[in-house]
Order: sequence, then structure tokens, then C-alpha cells
Amino acid sequence: MLLKGKKGIIFGVANEHSLAWHIAQQAHEQGAELLLSVASERFLRRVGPLAERLNAGQPIICDVSSDGDIKRAFEEIRARMPEVDFIVHAIATAKRDDLQGRFLDTSRDGFSLAHDVSTFSFVAISREAENMLRPGASLLTLTYLGAVRAVPSYNVMGVAKASLEASVRYMANDFGPSGVRVNAISAGPVKTLSASVVKGFKDKVDIQQVAAPLRRNVTGEDVGKAGLFLLSDMASGVTGEILYVDCGYNIMADFITRED
Ligand code: NAP
Repeated sequence: MLLKGKKGIIFGVANEHSLAWHIAQQAHEQGAELLLSVASERFLRRVGPLAERLNAGQPIICDVSSDGDIKRAFEEIRARMPEVDFIVHAIATAKRDDLQGRFLDTSRDGFSLAHDVSTFSFVAISREAENMLRPGASLLTLTYLGAVRAVPSYNVMGVAKASLEASVRYMANDFGPSGVRVNAISAGPVKTLSASVVKGFKDKVDIQQVAAPLRRNVTGEDVGKAGLFLLSDMASGVTGEILYVDCGYNIMADFITRED
């Protein structure tokens, strides 16, 4: 049991397809005690039964775009779980209009929203949790290849992910002296609620299937297992890293000329 005796909070389970759910399942199977957090009361009905399956009790409501909500949520978290060994941040949002067409046309509001919810929230919740983190704790977020390549339609979310990846490195440096690790998984395309909002998402899935070295799409389970590794002591010497879990797609230079 890789996480026996460890406690963690998982932000970003929307349903059974969520990457956060796959990580939560792996963590639960390996003995972790969990709390789940959802954005609003509206999602309690859907996520409540999932939390029950993990013996995680009632999910905590936290809209990460509000400092007040983060403070209030952490008061509840502290009462239920005074110390934590890991936090998973699997949260992102952008205006639908900004996930198609030209990046150049991104509005100021859209730019700000994507960075606030998808990037700053990782900094904000990690800072709020700082005094609760046990030595050896692990903070984990989720990113995508669009952070380092221009992926059509991913646009402002790619720029927010670039900022998230840089935040991982700065946070790893800040938290390192306390023995706390900070990492990200860069996942290949997996069909989830948020992913299906990106225009041309299905094309990305189809391309990965033929172009990736493993000749298949990444699954939620692949991401869950990599998450488990980074949360566990198996990754005790790993911090500030972006771990690609994409069947190797990111290493390819050109897949148009593939012959097999
Ligand atoms: P998902 O199931 O739709 O999860 C996204 C989560 O973000 C939802 O639980 C959503 O909560 C939450 N969220 C959005 N705004 C929020 C707010 N203001 N406060 C609190 N929570 C908020 O999609 P997912 O694909 O698993 O996404 C998880 C992470 O993986 C994201 O960072 C995403 O960019 C990343 N990622 C996904 C893929 C992919 O192909 N799926 C690939 C690489 C990286 P509500 O539903 O309650 O609003």
C-alpha cells in the first residue's frame, strides 16, 4: 500500500471521467484517506456518491476563483483533516470562445479568467495549505503539451499552462526546504467535460492514436497511476518536474511521414 497512513485533498472531480477521479481512485486503493473538493453546491449531487465510494465523506465546496471561498474551505478542511500529505489540483477553465479560432483574439477578461482559475488557484490553495503540510508532502497539478507547443484551438489555455508549469518550478524552490515536493503531469488528451470544450478535441485524440510511440491514446488510468507515483514516497527525490503521460507523443517531431 503506497499511500497507507497518508491523507490528501483532491480538487477537480467533476464526474467519473475526470482525471482527478482517476488519481483519487488510485490513491484510495493504495490506502490514502481522502477529502474531495467541488466548485459549487450544484455539483454535490453528482460528486457526493463518488466521494462515498472512497469513504471521503461529504465533498468540500470551494470556488477557487475566490480568496474568501478558499479561506472558508480550508477552515473546514483543517477541522476534518488537520495535516495533509498531498494535494491534487486538477482544475482549469477558459471561455469557450477562447478555445477556438486565433489566440490573438483572446479578450482581456478571457486571458485573466484562464490564468486566475487554471494557474493562480494552484498557488493560492498550496499557500493556504502550507502550515498543514507534513514533511515529505506532495503537491500535484495537471498540465498539457499546449504549454510548450502551439496547439491549434488550445490558445489561452496553453499560455495559462505555461504559467502553471513555471509556477511548479518556483513553488518547488519555495517549498523544497520544508521537504515538500511540487510536480505536474502533462497528460495526453483524455475525453472529459473540460477537454471536450476545446475545438477539434477529437482530432487530437485521433492523431495521438497513430502518432504516439505507444500507438494508442492515454487513458485516465495511465494518468491515475502516474499521479500515484508522484504522490507517493516512490517519487521522494522528484520535484519541480513536468512528467509527460501521453504515450510518448511529445517526443515526436513529425508524424505525417510515418510509414507503418
Ligand atoms: P474535468 O473533469 O472537467 O475537471 C475540471 C475541473 O475543474 C472540474 O471539476 C471543475 O469543477 C473544476 N473547476 C473549474 N472551475 C473551477 C472553480 N472556479 N473552482 C473550483 N473548481 C473549478 O476535466 P479534466 O480534463 O479532468 O481536467 C482536470 C485537469 O487536467 C485540468 O487542469 C486540465 O487542464 C488538465 N488536463 C486535461 C487533459 C485532458 O485531455 N482531459 C489533458 C491535459 C491536462 P466543476 O465541474 O464543478 O466546475
